[in-house]
Amino acid sequence: MTLRIAALCCAGLLYSGLSAPAKAVPNEQQIANVRRSLSDWIKADTSNPPGNEARVVKAIAARLQQAKIPYEIVAFAPGRENIVARLKGSGPDKPLLLLAHVDVVGTKDQAWTSPPHVLTEQDGYLVGRGVSDDLGMAAINLEVFLALKADRKPLRRDVILALTGDEESGGAGIRFLLDKHPQLIDAGIALNEGASVTLGEDGKVAYVGMQTAEKNYADFTVTATGPTGHSSVPPVDTAIFTLAKALVKINEVAMPAHLLPVTRAYFTEQAAFTSGEEQAAMQALVAATDDHQLPEAALAVLEKDPITKANLRTTCVATLISGGTKENALPPSATAMINCRILPDETVDEVRRRLVSAIANPAVSVNVIHDYGVPKTSPVDGEVAVALRAVTKQLYPGVPLLPVMSRGATDSRYLRRAGILAYGIGPIAMSELDGKRAHGINERIPAASIGPGLEFMLRLVDHLAVAR
Ligand SMILES: [Zn+2]
Repeated sequence: MTLRIAALCCAGLLYSGLSAPAKAVPNEQQIANVRRSLSDWIKADTSNPPGNEARVVKAIAARLQQAKIPYEIVAFAPGRENIVARLKGSGPDKPLLLLAHVDVVGTKDQAWTSPPHVLTEQDGYLVGRGVSDDLGMAAINLEVFLALKADRKPLRRDVILALTGDEESGGAGIRFLLDKHPQLIDAGIALNEGASVTLGEDGKVAYVGMQTAEKNYADFTVTATGPTGHSSVPPVDTAIFTLAKALVKINEVAMPAHLLPVTRAYFTEQAAFTSGEEQAAMQALVAATDDHQLPEAALAVLEKDPITKANLRTTCVATLISGGTKENALPPSATAMINCRILPDETVDEVRRRLVSAIANPAVSVNVIHDYGVPKTSPVDGEVAVALRAVTKQLYPGVPLLPVMSRGATDSRYLRRAGILAYGIGPIAMSELDGKRAHGINERIPAASIGPGLEFMLRLVDHLAVAR
């Protein structure tokens, strides 16, 4: 704890000591504005369900109005709204979209040490529901957008601000915009949540994440059938035992490991900051000429880390089970729910076929509940990567920009499907452990990370949208 606080103060010093273009450095007022937004929006309690995002949208509208920026409020359900505004630029490039969601996860049955819907400063941290997911980024995006207007810099493309609802329960807000008002967010590139400026154990920035891909999500039912009757004379294959055998097979199935452009780029960058057998294993993986024929010895080293394993393979796990009606009766069927996180270049049907062949029993059926299709990914190079690399170099020299894939999903999946190259970032520097507090107890960000976070976004948007 002491280390982290001490180092955070140093991060603050580092940032204030930089010689940056004057307008890219946030002033005290802007930092205070972000804190005020966070305080007001956390108090508004947009726990989803029910959402009530209109409460926060009202406050955002007031700020935009004050700055004389026109905006559109788009309701997608009673009490639930998105807000979208645009600053016009000139030039051939399609707009830049700054996206963040203003709904938060509820706090029922969570034992917080401070009231979750009150922004509280404790030990150098700002604590409150939504402070990191995703109100912090929403507040920074708003401030950056207002700064662009106030600075009157000529823009070489439109910049769109969209603060939306329902990300935490399926993305009804962004889906409504894409379905009903696509012209409001007709961007070429988008910056959204999904990665972060990550602090190491020494409290210094260890890497800057850039999320370009997300695993696909699919649920399957696995159902076994068997003879019904009295339990006193059991047959060999009852529905429940057959299901149990199938589940063991699913647990043992080896989904093939392979590299995607994002994981290849990740290992390429990360190898330079690793040592020993891990480094050798990363180098061996990226040296493989066939992304689907990876050296087993290298996989064995790297897959000791379950996160790395989940980045290299589709994973499937049983999450629900049901079957039987009475202690002394044989049920006609038993069913388990299998939740799979699928690499973004594999189809749901391919995974289903692998499960079927692993089970190898015609008395067991495997059915997919939803198939949303193969997700799209964003390129690991290109203008957003170039801009992120430049900003990382300016603010955190020597720190790697790591392309990453999320194992969960954000609203970027809908943007990418609509042809918008979405990138997950997170300007507010925090440790991985603090990042994991999102959705949980005592969600928090370092108070000292607001200023550098604002500067990170100001510089990034400057790179991507301001005319030279
Ligand atoms: Zn979020």
